[in-house]
Amino acid sequence: KVRVRFAPSPTGPLHIGGVRTALFNYLFAKKHGGDFLLRIEDTDQNRYVEGAEAYIIEALNWLNIPYDEGPGKEKDCGPYRQSERKDLYKQYADALIESGNAYYAFDTAEKLDSHRKDHEEKGKTFIYNWHNRLKLKNSLTFSSEETQQKIANGEEYVIRFKSPEDETLYLNDIIRGGMQVETSVLDDKVLFKSDGMPTYHLANIVDDHLMEITHVIRGEEWLPSLALHILLYRAFGWHAPQFAHLPLILKPTGNGKLSKRDGDKMGFPVFPLQWKTAEGDEFSGYREDGYLPEAVVNMLAFLGWNPGTEQEIFSLQELVAAFELERVHKAGAKFDPEKTKWFQHQYLQEVDDARLSEEFKKFLIDRSISTALDVPLIVSLLKERATFVSDIWEEGSFFFEAPKTYDAKAVEKAFKPETPELLQKVVSLLNSSEDFSAENLSEKVKGWITSENIGFGKVMMPLRLALVGEMKGPEVFDILSILGKEESISRIEKAID
Ligand code: GLU
Repeated sequence: KVRVRFAPSPTGPLHIGGVRTALFNYLFAKKHGGDFLLRIEDTDQNRYVEGAEAYIIEALNWLNIPYDEGPGKEKDCGPYRQSERKDLYKQYADALIESGNAYYAFDTAEKLDSHRKDHEEKGKTFIYNWHNRLKLKNSLTFSSEETQQKIANGEEYVIRFKSPEDETLYLNDIIRGGMQVETSVLDDKVLFKSDGMPTYHLANIVDDHLMEITHVIRGEEWLPSLALHILLYRAFGWHAPQFAHLPLILKPTGNGKLSKRDGDKMGFPVFPLQWKTAEGDEFSGYREDGYLPEAVVNMLAFLGWNPGTEQEIFSLQELVAAFELERVHKAGAKFDPEKTKWFQHQYLQEVDDARLSEEFKKFLIDRSISTALDVPLIVSLLKERATFVSDIWEEGSFFFEAPKTYDAKAVEKAFKPETPELLQKVVSLLNSSEDFSAENLSEKVKGWITSENIGFGKVMMPLRLALVGEMKGPEVFDILSILGKEESISRIEKAID
């Protein structure tokens, strides 16, 4: 059975790259009838950020890509926070020492720094591996008694992986295909620290094994760790999962990785939900900016993947059906804020009028604006022009607030000496209309215009200006009908006053 996991470290809010990883894991799992796990990789206490885990979970829920197993959804493989699995890792580090695949190292950070400097001065790089591990302070150079003594004395240590000296590894990635890595350039990565905490590498492999993960789908930034991870599986004698490394998400300009500051600089969110740092920095989120989760999901799916057809609009179910890891690109995916808005516009058009009206009513209520008018009708008339719910307000605020000023250019064009008299006639037609439907008003006013041979523009342009304040909005008769007799007449009279 396919089992995949999204394994974020709670070091801050999830940016869209992280969400994309979660989404691709979700799609792959669901496509194969498998499980999607959430594992919180919080072994690095220094980088832990309060609220980050809750943010991650809220973001996944908002996007409608819930996990099957994880914090709060405990199944057999729990707990799903590595900090709660702390006691489990040491035995695995010990097992690697036992089998000769790892060793204790006692080198202080200062000492390692000075080694690094010495090497640099000679134009070389210091790598802690077969090259020099036998000259350093570790259980390969101390006797086992000395080593035990140091540990008993409480000396600080780390457990390092003993990477093979001279071997060619053949690695496979579902997206990238085959790769070769020479083990001679790998360093002996730290697996465990004397504070009792495993590092990412150890905890990640142990948990993927214990949680029976079949496919590891993660960002390209982890590709350099693949060799070590494969070596760890081999050292444990475990079957390794398959790997797929997702392409980077690039800035809209294409030069460089999209960073969290780019959003602020270029005016689009890079986070699913808004986030406030402890220092008070605020980042906007897709949710708060008025995006629909379906639009964001659709946009994210196309960051590095395409279906191979012209189709661009995909519901989550359709994505599940169409998704294939083999179709994920190797090249970085350029983030396109305009395309994101395009998706949002498409999805807003699909939202049924009842739901959109409710959203727009909320918008009005938040701003203490009366919802007494026929909001559903207003929404259905303006929706086509809107990308966000707030655009309905941009396009239709005049329904709720009578114009205070009139667009000067339009006034010049539309207001002629005979205008007041013509609009006065419209007022009396409105006054005498029992039936205030758009159809009836249209029939009456147009009938009069035609019979008097006046010319539509002479009446309709100033009429629109009187009602709206500028030359925009839906059909004038729809506007009249929605505003109602009293309000319509009052606006016209004010305009010709
Ligand atoms: N904790 C890692 C991260 O934050 C997980 C990497 C992986 O999926 O192996 O991205």
